[in-house]
Amino acid sequence: MTSVDRFKGIHRAKEIVDMLNIENASHIDIKAIAMQRGVIVTEGPLKGADGRLAVFKNKSLITIRESILEKTKKRFVMAHELGHYELHRSEAFSKSCTESDFYKWSIGNPMEVEANYFASELLMPEDLFNKITEGKDISRSLIEKLSREFNTSWTATGLPPAIVPV
Ligand SMILES: [Zn+2]
Repeated sequence: MTSVDRFKGIHRAKEIVDMLNIENASHIDIKAIAMQRGVIVTEGPLKGADGRLAVFKNKSLITIRESILEKTKKRFVMAHELGHYELHRSEAFSKSCTESDFYKWSIGNPMEVEANYFASELLMPEDLFNKITEGKDISRSLIEKLSREFNTSWTATGLPPAIVPV
């Protein structure tokens, strides 16, 4: 069985957050970050997938299923596909991801797990997350505040690495 290295995704996302000097949640514009990394994000009528990455020599392309309703879910799918680009582009030139791939946090295809941890860390960087949660108990109102601050949906994004049990 291939072991899953969730830190691989987290570390890569942290490098990007540092590299781009992201210091508050409003700086986390996934489309703009992808563009800076050489990836264009577009929306289209994908069949049987929520997100797709196609790696090309000069510019790579992420396509998001246009019929996804929740903006927060689209952001997560974008960040997940960017994770495949950052982590797996030398192994996989194209990747199509289905709904169930976005819920893989421990078991399943290691590439999917790694892309999810990457996405989670990029959308909710641990340092920024800790600034808000420091010394506070995780409560419903705190979770709502975090969702608003980071523009994420708790159910669509899963839990950030900071509070996922090892
Ligand atoms: Zn995937």
